[in-house]
Amino acid sequence: MDKKTVGLSSSFKGNTEPKSFVKNPIKGTKFTIAISSAKGGVGKSTFAMNFAIALKSIGLKVGILDADIYGPSLPKMMSVNEKPKSEDGKSMTPVNQYGVQCMSIGFLVDTDTPMIWRGPMVTSAIKTFTQKVLWNDLDFIVVDMPPGTGDTQLTFAQEIKVDGVIIVSTPQEIALADVRRGINMFNKLKVPILGLVDNMSFFESENGKKHNIFGEGGVEKLAIDFKKKFLGKIPISIDLRIAADNGKPLMEENSEHKISKIFLEMAKKVKESFL
Ligand code: ADP
Repeated sequence: MDKKTVGLSSSFKGNTEPKSFVKNPIKGTKFTIAISSAKGGVGKSTFAMNFAIALKSIGLKVGILDADIYGPSLPKMMSVNEKPKSEDGKSMTPVNQYGVQCMSIGFLVDTDTPMIWRGPMVTSAIKTFTQKVLWNDLDFIVVDMPPGTGDTQLTFAQEIKVDGVIIVSTPQEIALADVRRGINMFNKLKVPILGLVDNMSFFESENGKKHNIFGEGGVEKLAIDFKKKFLGKIPISIDLRIAADNGKPLMEENSEHKISKIFLEMAKKVKESFL
């Protein structure tokens, strides 16, 4: 009897083998830094806006891409109410605000309408933002990612050249479990992790006593465990929250503020890793 081998046809195998992705750099910038958090509500967008303005304040040309498709924060946090212009109907010019080039899905849709997009639509929106926006001669684009480990993160990490990611978390145990997942995802996708930030680290009352509302030291310990840099702690600050709500990040409103100085230090540390 003829021996027959049983197995997958070569064309089927071709379909199941891991796809190799080409990582395209975002045009118009030297470096792309993603700001990520494993959980929502930990202050990722607040960090992204203040950090971008801190980079600008140390003399760099900066853009912010709000890639949080399902919950864009940039229009409110940076007080941008205008739509980006398009000269040729194909590409878009980012909106300048506080000396930073800005782009957000929130400029193009009604922010009160829930985004009920499926994966491929998210992917194509991200590609438009990274390939059809005329970013002008930037040193850094700071990308505010949506929380979690979903389609946007995958698209970014697989198809766009991300030079580094900063992971923001609160020190709360439940947030840390997700951060571990996030670190593993970026490691797997070979996106360099620039460092971890501990936000809402503690609250300092008027008598100078520190209260560790969400626990203590968890993010720093995680950085040590995973051999990543710890970029620092940002305390709970009413000024930071009010400035965000008023549409002018604290870093822009008052660069001498104690909290602004923390952002400046972090911006300097990150700059040193690149320039
Ligand atoms: P995320 O992008 O992770 O969902 P946001 O940046 O929108 O989180 O922050 C959630 C809320 O917490 C906002 O109201 C913001 O002003 C506030 N916030 C963020 N960081 C701090 C902080 N260090 N101190 C006080 N409020 C903060």
